[in-house]
Amino acid sequence: MFIGHFAVGLGAKKVAPQVKLGTLFFAVQFLDLLWPIFLILGIEHARIVPGNTAFTPFDFYDYPFSHSLLMSIVWAVLFGGIYYYVKKNLRNSIVVGCAVFSHWLLDFISHKPDLAIAPGIHFVLGLGLWNSIIGTIFIEGFFFIGAVYIYIRTTKSIDRIGNYAFWGLIALLLISYIANIISPPPPNMTAVAYAGLAQWLFIVWAYWIDRHRICHD
Ligand SMILES: [Zn+2]
Repeated sequence: MFIGHFAVGLGAKKVAPQVKLGTLFFAVQFLDLLWPIFLILGIEHARIVPGNTAFTPFDFYDYPFSHSLLMSIVWAVLFGGIYYYVKKNLRNSIVVGCAVFSHWLLDFISHKPDLAIAPGIHFVLGLGLWNSIIGTIFIEGFFFIGAVYIYIRTTKSIDRIGNYAFWGLIALLLISYIANIISPPPPNMTAVAYAGLAQWLFIVWAYWIDRHRICHD
């Protein structure tokens, strides 16, 4: 999933209005922000196998440190714990921790069985929504539209930037999503890993939006 994760971040704003959208995006994509770093360091591995699933050519055969069930829980607790240490707000810390773990749940729905239970344990999980392009676009699109609606009902812009920056981000997310679907498989995983690092842009952008939008009431 791609925009499905960001949908969780947008929707979580209603549950925890004080948490910055940038932090929520950081949380929901945390596992996918670790993944390119682990690929570049050679700790995790993936390969390109056209047709691996209908939706993506990537074969995620070794990524237990960023994406196993156990490590996802560890990352969620760590992320929530650090948030609590900084902000001293238990409820919001739990929300951001859950946002981190939500990534695993959505990947569990979309990936074919390739998510390990824990590093070193080769029992893999995944429901394989990615076997259907239409199914993936329908479900992810439904999440995303719903989340955008919730977010714009929860927040309002305090100036013009608040509007333009928000809709600009939504447009860029959608363009990236569509480009991913229609473009041919990338040349190699190194290129994919470096492209994955570009996701930091969405987080910085969301923090920028936070400065120009406030919550209702
Ligand atoms: Zn992922």
